[in-house]
Amino acid sequence: MKKVKVELSSGNYEIRVGSDLLSRVGLWLKENGFSGKAVIITDSNVKRLYATLLEQGLSHAGFTVTVLEVPAGEEQKSLENAGRLYHDLTEAYTERMTPVLALGGGVVGDLAGFVAATYMRGVPLIQVPTTLLAQVDSSIGGKTGIDHGQMKNIIGAFYQPALVVADVETLKTLPEVELSNGFAEAIKSAVVRSRDLFNFLDVNMAKAIQLQPAAMENMVLETARIKAGIVEKDEKETGLRAILNYGHTVGHAVETVSNFQVKHGQAVAIGMVAAAKISKRMGLLQDYEVYRLDEVIKKAGLPTKMPDFTREEKEKLLEVIKHDKKVLNNKVRFVLLKSIGNAVLSDEVEPGLIGEELFGWRAP
Ligand code: ADP
Ligand code: ZN
Repeated sequence: MKKVKVELSSGNYEIRVGSDLLSRVGLWLKENGFSGKAVIITDSNVKRLYATLLEQGLSHAGFTVTVLEVPAGEEQKSLENAGRLYHDLTEAYTERMTPVLALGGGVVGDLAGFVAATYMRGVPLIQVPTTLLAQVDSSIGGKTGIDHGQMKNIIGAFYQPALVVADVETLKTLPEVELSNGFAEAIKSAVVRSRDLFNFLDVNMAKAIQLQPAAMENMVLETARIKAGIVEKDEKETGLRAILNYGHTVGHAVETVSNFQVKHGQAVAIGMVAAAKISKRMGLLQDYEVYRLDEVIKKAGLPTKMPDFTREEKEKLLEVIKHDKKVLNNKVRFVLLKSIGNAVLSDEVEPGLIGEELFGWRAP
C-alpha cells in the first residue's frame, strides 16, 4: 500500500492506494480514533460485489455497521435519495463522530459525500472509490453534490474526506467503458501537470489496460498525487484547478451533440486532442507533442477523432462550445497546452478558430 498526503487549510488527509485494502479500512479507522458505529453507503452493484469485505473488516475492528443502499446510475444523484439517506441516518442513530463510508463510483461518492457534508453540519466521510474514474479523479478534492432537473451537480458542497482508500483490485469487475472513462482522466492529469506520468503511461499503457496491479497502482497513485497537488493550491476552484478541465470544453460539447452516445471518457479523449491541435494552432505546442498525445490516447483504446457529425451537428457543437459558461468578450476560455505536462488557462481562443481546427471551416 502506498500513500499520498493531502494538506489543506481545512485539515490533512491521506489517499491510500493498493491491493486488498477493503478489509483493512476498519482497522485504519480504529487507529484514527473512530469507534462505535459506522455507516456504509453504496449502490446495488457495488454492494453485491464489495460491501461484505468492507463490512467484515469494520466488524472485526469492533464497529457496528449499517449498510445503506441506493440503486445504481447517474439519475440516482437526486434530492429524493439524499432525503432518504438523511432519514436512514437518523434511524441508524448516527452520532456526530460516526464515519460515513462512500463505497462505489463517482455517483455514490458525490451523493454520500453531499449527505455526509450536510448531515448534522458534517460527519466524517471516508471515500472508498471502486471505479477508475473515482479513484483517479472524483474521490479526491472534496467536490460533492447532487443533480437537479437537467443540471448536474447544481446542489453541492466542498467537503474534504477524512481518508480515501483506493483498492485497485476492485477495478477487475468494472465494465470496459467505465475503465476507459478513468484512463481518459488519468491521461488528462498527466498531460496537464506531469511529463513523468505521461511517459510512464506511454510505456505502460498495455499493462495498465490489462489491469496489472503494479501498473495500476502506480498510475492511480501518481494521478492522485497530481490532483492532490492542484487541489492543495486551489481548494475551492478559484483559478488553477480549472486546468483539470483540459479536454472538457470540446468533450462536453461532443457528449451533448451525440446525445450522450459518446461516453464521457471518449469525449474527453477527443476533446484533449482537439485542444492540443488548437494549442498548436495558437503557436503554443509543438506538432510532435500533439502526435504523442494522440498515440497514448489510442493505446488506451480511446478515440482521438471527431465522430462523423453532420453539418448541422457540427454547427451545434460549435454553438455549445460558444455557449459554454466560459465565454468572455467573444473569446472562449480554453485550457491549452504549452507542452505535455504544462497546461495553461487561455482567454484568447477565438471561436472561429475552433471550427477551422476541428472541421476545416469557419462558422458563419
Ligand atoms: P463513475 O465513477 O464513472 O461516476 P458510477 O458511480 O456511475 O461511476 O458507476 C458506474 C457503474 O459501475 C455503476 O453501475 C456502478 O454500480 C458500477 N460499479 C462501480 N464500481 C464497480 C466495480 N468495482 N465493479 C463493477 N461495477 C462497478
Ligand atoms: Zn471528466
